[in-house]
Amino acid sequence: MASNTSAALYRDAAANVEAAALAVGMDEKIRRILSQPMNELIVNFPVQRDDGSYDMLQGYRIQHNNVLGPYKGGLRFHPSVDIDEVRALATWMTFKCALMRLPFGGAKGGVSIDPRSFSEPELERVVRRFTHSLGENIGPEYDIAAPDMGTNAQTMGWMMDTYLNSRGPGERQNTRRIVTGKPVELGGSLGREEATGRGAAYALRHLYGEFDRVLDGESVAIQGFGNVGSHAARALVELGMTVKAIADVSGIVYADTGLDVEKLLNWVAQSGGVADYPNAEPITNDELFALDVDVLIPAALHAQITAENVESIRAPIIVEAANGPITADAAAVLDHGGVHVIPDILANAGGVVVSYYEWVQNKTSNRWTAHDVDTRLRDQIWEACDRVSAQRSARGCSRRAAAYIEASELLQTVYSLRGIFP
Ligand code: NAD
Repeated sequence: MASNTSAALYRDAAANVEAAALAVGMDEKIRRILSQPMNELIVNFPVQRDDGSYDMLQGYRIQHNNVLGPYKGGLRFHPSVDIDEVRALATWMTFKCALMRLPFGGAKGGVSIDPRSFSEPELERVVRRFTHSLGENIGPEYDIAAPDMGTNAQTMGWMMDTYLNSRGPGERQNTRRIVTGKPVELGGSLGREEATGRGAAYALRHLYGEFDRVLDGESVAIQGFGNVGSHAARALVELGMTVKAIADVSGIVYADTGLDVEKLLNWVAQSGGVADYPNAEPITNDELFALDVDVLIPAALHAQITAENVESIRAPIIVEAANGPITADAAAVLDHGGVHVIPDILANAGGVVVSYYEWVQNKTSNRWTAHDVDTRLRDQIWEACDRVSAQRSARGCSRRAAAYIEASELLQTVYSLRGIFP
């Protein structure tokens, strides 16, 4: 059963697509194709717990569109996962890949579990059974997974190993690109782990000029201190910003003079979360969103800035490092109030951009240096920012609308050139 929140999330995603289709005068048949996923897969599979009992789990893989290339999108383990949440995330991937000019379509997968309540061997069994259940519905030139919330490089390692073991011996070495975001030792790319957070920082830095502000010395609050939030925090400190608050599922910590991100990461590694970090004071979620900071970065869950709390926001700039952190009604209030929002399909695209680099390196049996990956990422993010800014100036719309329009123009062109089969 889809929850109200995820149903609203999917409605918001569909509304973004509709608005962009209208703005670019999209052909009706193309609009209808893009308004729903191509394939929706639900798998029910058993997983043995450490005590010998079995759980029946439900997993999803939604393949939204593949007109630009193989389906591409992350795998999420979180209790909120349901079919509408995954549909929304898959839809966003189609537009993110189009916006970034990647030869990939959009997909997403998920299993509704809280990974913190599973032991490592249990998680491995979940990943392997889920991958096995997907069977021939994924493939290195067909549908390629990556980490998302609740999953990581290790998850991708297990997924890859399960997939390779289902292939004939002659196909095992050339199909490692079935997943991206895997450990470097297994063929992962240098720089993939950091890519989403660094990409968000690059987008912020590039667009800062448009905000008539100087980034050095400005303050930031971040919700989420996992893959995306922690690497965004590091990259922003590198750029001279002061990180004043960080939240994770355990709590929220605030220091007016700035948090030492490396010390906080060490604390999290020891204690499991930011809560009780000694060099800061605890604050509430409401206080986090109402902080008087220059930049607010939601980098955890969707639907965090809503009609209920949007009026309390004081930050003049918001970077959507998470997918869908601002609901459509809240986004309208922020636009009206002149808040600069860097939309998710641009702000967090660094992950899929470097996933593409990983896929290319695997395909060509090549290895790029960390510097090469990071420079290409920066340039690709900046180039996309410039195209979004040009659309925004030409059309006088929000950055979010401009990003969807930029993606929709490409999708419309590709469909028009290919035609609709048969
Ligand atoms: P993650 O699992 O590594 O980290 C999630 C973080 O959010 C953790 O610190 C967790 O404690 C925190 N969190 C969870 N619930 C919270 C709550 N109620 N309040 C405050 N904090 C909470 O996940 P991630 O990969 O960093 O993904 C975060 C977001 O970024 C998601 O929306 C994801 O879809 C998006 N994203 C991730 C990638 C990627 O490459 N990993 C790429 C693009 C977008």
